[in-house]
Amino acid sequence: MDTVEIAGVLIDTRHYIDGHRVASVETFENTSPIDGSFLGNFSRAGASEVNAAVVAAKTAFPEWRELGPRGRGDKLEKLATLIEENIEVLSQIETLDNGSLLRSNRRGVMPRAAANIRFFADWAIKELKHDAFETRGHVNHISWDPSGVAALITPWNAPLMLATWKIGPALAAGDTVVLKPAEWTPLTASFFADLTIKAGIPAGVFNVVFGIGTEAGAALTQHPGLSRISFTGSVPTAKKIARAAAENLTPVNFELGGKSPFIVLGDADLELATDLAVEQYDNAGQVCLSGTRILVHESISNEFSRIFSEKTKKLIHGDPRNESTNMGPQIHQDHFNRIAGFVARAKDEGANIVFGGSPNLELGGLYFRPTLVMQPKNGSEILTHEIFGPVLCMQTFSNDEEALTMANSTEFGLAAVVVSGNHEHAEKITKNLVAGTIWVNCFFVRDLKAPFGGSKKSGIGRDGGTWSFDFYADVKNTVIAPNGWKD
Ligand code: NAD
Repeated sequence: MDTVEIAGVLIDTRHYIDGHRVASVETFENTSPIDGSFLGNFSRAGASEVNAAVVAAKTAFPEWRELGPRGRGDKLEKLATLIEENIEVLSQIETLDNGSLLRSNRRGVMPRAAANIRFFADWAIKELKHDAFETRGHVNHISWDPSGVAALITPWNAPLMLATWKIGPALAAGDTVVLKPAEWTPLTASFFADLTIKAGIPAGVFNVVFGIGTEAGAALTQHPGLSRISFTGSVPTAKKIARAAAENLTPVNFELGGKSPFIVLGDADLELATDLAVEQYDNAGQVCLSGTRILVHESISNEFSRIFSEKTKKLIHGDPRNESTNMGPQIHQDHFNRIAGFVARAKDEGANIVFGGSPNLELGGLYFRPTLVMQPKNGSEILTHEIFGPVLCMQTFSNDEEALTMANSTEFGLAAVVVSGNHEHAEKITKNLVAGTIWVNCFFVRDLKAPFGGSKKSGIGRDGGTWSFDFYADVKNTVIAPNGWKD
């Protein structure tokens, strides 16, 4: 069987290489985290399928490069429109595959996937320029040239949204692409490949290989034919990819994990602070940007935790396809066990679990209850490791210096949230936080023009606007002398 019917559409379970569907002898099983139902056996790539995809992308590169930003933009515009026309089906497929809320996929995530393609196509046409400047009568012209074949490796927590965040700028820059989506969520990448055909993207420009990270992912990142590797995922995997990339000196861009602080200053509006804190459970806590370490000024901590607990109790945990559900399942049994392990070890250390701390037995399966761990021991793993589940820690502080020391104390630096009622006070904190993105009195406001990425171990490089092109393209300076001309 080469296809599986999901949400009323046929999804091909084979790779998409050089404009064709290609099967592997080996397969891997895909199931839904909602209820464990079977979602297909997908082709499991090894080195030969990966090599075929890179060769196809390399062969297609000159034609795609020659199209220029406008020629590529026309096709990418069509692709964005096709995503928009398929928001409903893409949302249903994604929800079945990774357990994210159907209403969020419909209203936020899938429209954003379309925007990722359209925005970067437009940016390459209209915004990607640098004023020429003079050096002793010579003129410097800066351009962003296509670089070659970009390998894109993506995680499961927002599969199509995170893939298009790379595919958009890579294709708009004139690179050709080999995508390796996460093995737990292959569905939307396959459907997306069909949309690229309808959009008229030439064969070989966009390729997908399905497979296991340590097999297909490893073979891809070791390949000498790549000009770029863009990876979103965990720190341990990033280290392996960095080693593989070092062999060929392939440039890498890494968007990695976090353990972000959520700082509530003594002058904060508590209703706002607790509303924003509840949002840290979004996507069942499987959001890299979540502020998982809640740091609250001691003068308001009792009141904060009372209101926060009341609000969290109202969260509806259940089937992510229901409109009223706030929190769905964890992605996979292995990941669920990992989350439960962190909580069990914290309990063994005597941590105070204010609420949650266990699976939701009424729902069974992969549903872990929203959890708050109060004042864990300093230095304990629950405060330093990314859990990537619905588990938040809360600590108190007595002054700004202490808050900043605690906030900056992990190896991560992806994001931070600051809640304060005073501009100057908030600025004093934000100025001293180490993070790629800081939200003040808000959460998850993300403009495609803004730089996005992590400090410290949360990443290498920045995406968004021209920053994305600085990575995917070869930035070139052409210096033209005033003399020597015969025309
Ligand atoms: P992961 O590192 O286990 O896997 C990510 C991808 O890498 C998958 O496609 C996987 O198959 C592949 N992979 C695994 N081993 C590989 C290898 N040896 N070589 C090449 N590829 C390999 O991460 P995950 O569990 O899928 O995702 C969760 C992580 O992603 C969390 O750490 C989260 O914070 C992070 N994340 C970061 C961002 C961001 O923008 N910074 C966004 C989403 C998720």
